Amino acid sequence: MNLFLHNTLSGKKELFTPLTEKGVRIYTCGPTVYDDAHVGNLRAYVFADTLKRALLYFGFLVKHVINITDVGHLASDADEGDDKMTKGLKREGKPLTLAAMRELADTYASRFKEDLRALNILSPNEMPHASDHIKEDISLIKILEEKECAYKTSDGMYFDTSRFREYGKLGNIDVGGLSVGARVAVNKEKKNPTDFALWKFNEKLGWDSPWGKGFPGWHVECSAMSVKYLGQPFDIHTGGTDHIPVHHQNEIAQSEAAAEKPLARFWLHGAHLTIRGGTKMAKSEGEFLRLRDLTAKGIIPEAYRYYLLTASYRTPLEWSIEAVKAAQQALLRLAHHLSVWTTESEAASSEEYKREFRERIGDDLDTPNALALVWRLIKDTSLPEGVKRAMILDFDRVLGLNLAHLAEEIKKSAEDIPAEVRELVMVREKARAEKNFSRADAIRDEIKKLGYDISDTEAGVNVRKIK
Ligand code: AMP
Ligand code: ZN
Repeated sequence: MNLFLHNTLSGKKELFTPLTEKGVRIYTCGPTVYDDAHVGNLRAYVFADTLKRALLYFGFLVKHVINITDVGHLASDADEGDDKMTKGLKREGKPLTLAAMRELADTYASRFKEDLRALNILSPNEMPHASDHIKEDISLIKILEEKECAYKTSDGMYFDTSRFREYGKLGNIDVGGLSVGARVAVNKEKKNPTDFALWKFNEKLGWDSPWGKGFPGWHVECSAMSVKYLGQPFDIHTGGTDHIPVHHQNEIAQSEAAAEKPLARFWLHGAHLTIRGGTKMAKSEGEFLRLRDLTAKGIIPEAYRYYLLTASYRTPLEWSIEAVKAAQQALLRLAHHLSVWTTESEAASSEEYKREFRERIGDDLDTPNALALVWRLIKDTSLPEGVKRAMILDFDRVLGLNLAHLAEEIKKSAEDIPAEVRELVMVREKARAEKNFSRADAIRDEIKKLGYDISDTEAGVNVRKIK
């Protein structure tokens, strides 16, 4: 069955075919590790992981790279202001040295990796640090200089966008319509308003280069690392929609001007997690949450993942704690069903459901409808429970909800319940069956006194130790 993906380059859904037999090569722009990721950032990685899982499900081999940006990402897209890492060093009262910067990067990179693990995101094959690839950045800039695509100003080396005729092709940006200052601040030394920094001079913090001490531009880093680990062209480049007009436009310009071939075949962009009816959740907006803030509110990371899957990756999703709580309830109900359907069945699965699941995922990763299908399957009484369980666990290879583990946890916690409580639950069930609800309520209170809480679900009674 075919996999269709929306390619920002063409603005259309296209049939995905890999460039080589050897496997699908994906590059995902990674976090700038000057602080913890917020749940908005993490949406970008759940999306990339769903893509990777879908490719694996469709039988492709995958090589996935997520970089760690630990230098060069300026606070604004206008090549001005502080580097975000410098901001992080100042915030934490650390010295402005490369060693302190690396320490800061290592701290937040390892916290980022913890977030990925918690969200059941498959480990990327490589997670290169930008600061380990300065040599590759310099080589790329040298090629651009030789090809007369780069020029020097008093504050750095710049890419001359007039030397790349296709500039603006990603997302069909009207470059001609961009006035000076509309997208980039006025820098009198720039030849064109869209020109961007390849290397920024900095006497205090940086590396030596043929042009002067300083550090690479953020765009150069991604061009250098993606090509180093994946070659050029590679299959799929992903990022957030905020990357379309500047970051990815610039990656394309410099890599394609340098090598005279495409950088990537497909460009996929994830929509934002929003607040206040459409504003991108961002640290600068002040209103953001980390994954650990959710855990502190009693929300498990998989529930956040479930919530993200209820929307297409291309649709902006408005943050709502109530919706995340509802997602958690749905996820636990799902896992509860699997925990009681213990019989593995060898019987043939329902090909109809499998075909439809592939069709949904193959339609540009339509996870909301794939989840709806899972619930239809749960409620389908014509199929044996063991068959349904096996099929849902198979679908979870794409959904990544950790269902086998959650079901096991639910089963274990049910087994840990003392015999006295289990007996009372059974007595209450009997009272309920006899419609003696006052007796059932009295037993529920008795159970509560013993430190357990019960809730009635379609899949049966859920018993939980009160914390
Ligand atoms: P940064 O650390 O700023 O480079 O961002 C890391 C990733 O998070 C990028 O892919 C961004 O596109 C993505 N991102 C940032 N804010 C949001 C948001 N509110 N919703 C979804 N993705 C976001
Ligand atoms: Zn990037």
